[in-house]
Amino acid sequence: MAAMKRILLVLTAAFTILSVRAEKTLDIYWVDVEGGAATLMVTPAGQSILIDTGNPGTRDAGRIHEVATKQAGLRKIDFLITTHFHGDHFGGAAPLSQLMPIGKVYDNGIPVRNPDRNRQDPAFVLKVKPYKTMKVDGRVVVKPGGTLPLQQADGTAKVDLTFVAAARKFIEPPKGAKKNPLTGSVPPMKEDLSDNANSVASLITLGNFRFLDCGDLTWNMEAKLVEPVNRIGTVDVYQVNHHGLATSNNPLLIKSVAPTVSVMNNGHRKGCSPSAFTALQETQSIKAMYQVHRNLRPDGSDNNTDNELIANLTGPNECKAYTMKLSVTADGKSYTVFNPRNKHQRTFKTRRH
Ligand SMILES: [Zn+2]
Repeated sequence: MAAMKRILLVLTAAFTILSVRAEKTLDIYWVDVEGGAATLMVTPAGQSILIDTGNPGTRDAGRIHEVATKQAGLRKIDFLITTHFHGDHFGGAAPLSQLMPIGKVYDNGIPVRNPDRNRQDPAFVLKVKPYKTMKVDGRVVVKPGGTLPLQQADGTAKVDLTFVAAARKFIEPPKGAKKNPLTGSVPPMKEDLSDNANSVASLITLGNFRFLDCGDLTWNMEAKLVEPVNRIGTVDVYQVNHHGLATSNNPLLIKSVAPTVSVMNNGHRKGCSPSAFTALQETQSIKAMYQVHRNLRPDGSDNNTDNELIANLTGPNECKAYTMKLSVTADGKSYTVFNPRNKHQRTFKTRRH
């Protein structure tokens, strides 16, 4: 009888696992946090990585929780990466920790005072306190070249997350890397003293598939990733830096990493600047530009990709917060981007890098 019960239990457990994740894909979700950032990934082995958590308050944490539990079938965030200490990137972490457990947190180390050297914010210490005191399994200060301790799934390509930039330091270029021919083609901007320049940048791979998320990294630091040598090589998918703002998206970076697909986590009035938009349009490798929001700024900057490739068309009051999803096949050889608003989907072949 006891043996019978055990067999039943094992069968039930096996069935539950199978029903939740039929295919061992790498899934990426761009949760709509209205112009903040919250990029959720689930590896073929079922581990979850969340890069940034949107704004403070319950809205963004609630949206992340909903996508994590209902769409991705998660119970826990295994790894949280906070790119930098601006409210639209770390604000939702503490409220999210009230909704679901958070495992290990990776960031630049919690600053003891406002990390922006270009503006005063005496309230910063108060703002960061919930993040500092939230319950997590552990905390790690990111080092460029470091990786996440990810599990591998049987029969799939190798999954990896490597940090390529953190706190204005960068991963070593590959041995024997040649000088980037685009070196010197784009002039620098005035030094950015804000914490954006400290953003943690991550390169996520599954076999040949490569996805780059640099948070809000700004112009001169973007250049350092690829000039005079390209430290990361080419990628398939580029999360448009800094929501598509003009102080980021140096064409030198975008042209050097030469993505096939770009995904912009802009708000309906934030980001999607004319210069960033042009930089994407003028990058010949890009076949499709996706946006989380249609840019509805009343300043006449009507730069938008095809409506088909935009997850949310309306302003925040009517916003349904559709989540753009990308799924990489277990072998890493192709990936499909899915827009839940109109069920539009398109499959791309992973490039040779
Ligand atoms: Zn931001």
